[in-house]
Amino acid sequence: MSGSEKHLRIASPLGFCNGVRRALDTVEALLQKGASPLFVLHEIVHNNFVVDSLKARGVRFADTLEEVPEGAELILSAHGTTEAIFRQAAARCHVTDATCPLVSKVQQAAVEAAGNGERVIFFGHLGHPETEGVLGHVPPGSMEVVESPEELEKLPPDDGRQVCILSQTTLDADEVALMTEVLRKRFRKVRTGAGICYATGVRQEAVRKLAPEVQYMLILGSPRSSNSNRLREAAASCGIPARLIDSPAEIPEEELEDVTELGLSAGASVPDELIKATVSKLRDLGFR
Ligand code: SF4
Repeated sequence: MSGSEKHLRIASPLGFCNGVRRALDTVEALLQKGASPLFVLHEIVHNNFVVDSLKARGVRFADTLEEVPEGAELILSAHGTTEAIFRQAAARCHVTDATCPLVSKVQQAAVEAAGNGERVIFFGHLGHPETEGVLGHVPPGSMEVVESPEELEKLPPDDGRQVCILSQTTLDADEVALMTEVLRKRFRKVRTGAGICYATGVRQEAVRKLAPEVQYMLILGSPRSSNSNRLREAAASCGIPARLIDSPAEIPEEELEDVTELGLSAGASVPDELIKATVSKLRDLGFR
């Protein structure tokens, strides 16, 4: 370890957003009511610690509706789902919908724009439950999903329709702004609708603000968490090494040996308990 004093700088805000809190409160309320067995379709939020803690309390996570017995208590995750799955679930289970209201807002915006005959271009990741859920709310073929700036070139030319740009709530704000600009140049009639949520935006801003003041940034979050990955990318885009860690056990101690100014942030699905445990381990490693 170097002889210099080591400092830990914590980004603010970090950790749980309101949508995640709301989804976990929903699970808690049903557990308190004695709902058993209690099923959740997909991970309630993308955090291994949260999911493992709930599994230890008897909550069962299903990848598909077929895995859920008829008549079971079923919670739909914070990321939302397709309309068809929602209907099927409601027909055979006692459903509680824990979709974040900000995700529902994006779904609604897609439905309205597609219904108005607009050309809906959606920035998001295929395979992510949120993007799949939005896709499942509009008629097949009425929404074009763009996963990266490179894919913008593949979009068919302007057909004269009003273009409506929407996005997954957890994308990188700078990248979305850049991609929107490209489309504004390419299409005549462009408007933007619902997308990146406030919680995502402010956590990214906090990381970008802190990055120039530190030599290395740790981001707490699980590998499947979109917003946590975007926080790591936001830090890396400022030119510093940044690593995503799922728990304090993953702190890369060797890489931090010569670091004197360390930054820390956490994705919107990371509980306070895990943030505190990580800070405590970093204190043990000499960061003040
Ligand atoms: S990150 Fe945003 S959209 Fe996702 S659950 Fe949190 S508040 Fe809702």
